[in-house]
Amino acid sequence: MGYSAMRGHFLAQKYLQGPGALSNCGQFLPGNIGKLLLLADNTVMPLVFDSFKNSVSDAKVELIMWNFGGECSEEEIAEVKSFSLNNEIKIIAGAGGGKALDTTRMVCHHLGLPMISIPTIAATNAATSSLAAVYSKDHVYKYPVKIGRCPDFVIVDTEIIANAPVRFLIAGMGDALSTKYEGEAMKAANKKTVHGTDCNQTSLFFSNLAHDIILEKGYLAKISAEKRQITPALEDVIEAILFLSEAGAEGGGGTAVPHGLHAAFTILPEVKEVYHGERVAFGILVQLILENRPLDYILKMQKFYRSVGLPITLRDIHIIENMDQKIHEVVNKACEPERYVHNMPFTVTKDSLFSAIMMADALGHEFLSRGE
Ligand SMILES: [Zn+2]
Repeated sequence: MGYSAMRGHFLAQKYLQGPGALSNCGQFLPGNIGKLLLLADNTVMPLVFDSFKNSVSDAKVELIMWNFGGECSEEEIAEVKSFSLNNEIKIIAGAGGGKALDTTRMVCHHLGLPMISIPTIAATNAATSSLAAVYSKDHVYKYPVKIGRCPDFVIVDTEIIANAPVRFLIAGMGDALSTKYEGEAMKAANKKTVHGTDCNQTSLFFSNLAHDIILEKGYLAKISAEKRQITPALEDVIEAILFLSEAGAEGGGGTAVPHGLHAAFTILPEVKEVYHGERVAFGILVQLILENRPLDYILKMQKFYRSVGLPITLRDIHIIENMDQKIHEVVNKACEPERYVHNMPFTVTKDSLFSAIMMADALGHEFLSRGE
């Protein structure tokens, strides 16, 4: 096909962020919406229920709880769906991490209901996403689903997020940093976004902004979260992770080497326990090497990674023994046809990817040996 000029913007319709956002969200809901299903697991429900209930009572809402089982599986989706149908649910709010939000996203998609997204951690940009990942009941990844629209209302209560384990926030920074590199590569390669549109300049601006905010304020944000203190830096970084980077990915493309490698790394059982954003962060270093970026640039990233605790070596993502053989397996998986590593503006081969991974690891060890 020849020239195509179709650009698209896909954003959450409303996004509210701040300490106590959950207690103040009612005024942004339409009145008399009827029955609202609040989906959360046993740990998250007590964190969100009271403030959400007080807040939505102004909006004449009947709040009903759904105890989420923990996996975005076909079984759970079907259960929530039939409960919602039988009880005339008009709107569903999902609270928690990616899986609770994805389950909510799937049910709302099937039933054509509006979705409220209440992330309680900032480990990925799932809160504002138009994609869901479906797993089997026993936690094996099955397939992604393109929903085609972002949540209607995203409520980010930073008091809750600041109280979550800080490793989630650090992983979220890794995930959000990648959007700039992946979007820019996809635009240069003339690849389409998840919506089938061209990468647009506003989205790439969002991705760049998210990237720069994280590099500038990520360390302060990490210390704030460790000390359970809400600071402007923490607010900025949370917004960069949850809103800016996803807005960047939706309309600007967000899938090249980092997300391609993250998925391929999960074939190694020891890497499964590493968080999504941590795997993605290591993948950024690999992409920078493939792109032949100046050493100073890579050093700057390594320095930032070390300051917050993102991985710079294979050991950091739990690959310790039989390195060559394991990386060959990962590369074989990552380089299958139609995988994200092929979204680069140049050909990525198994050999070039293998070398770049080994080089990222070697540079990481070099960095550590200098004791910086
Ligand atoms: Zn991601």
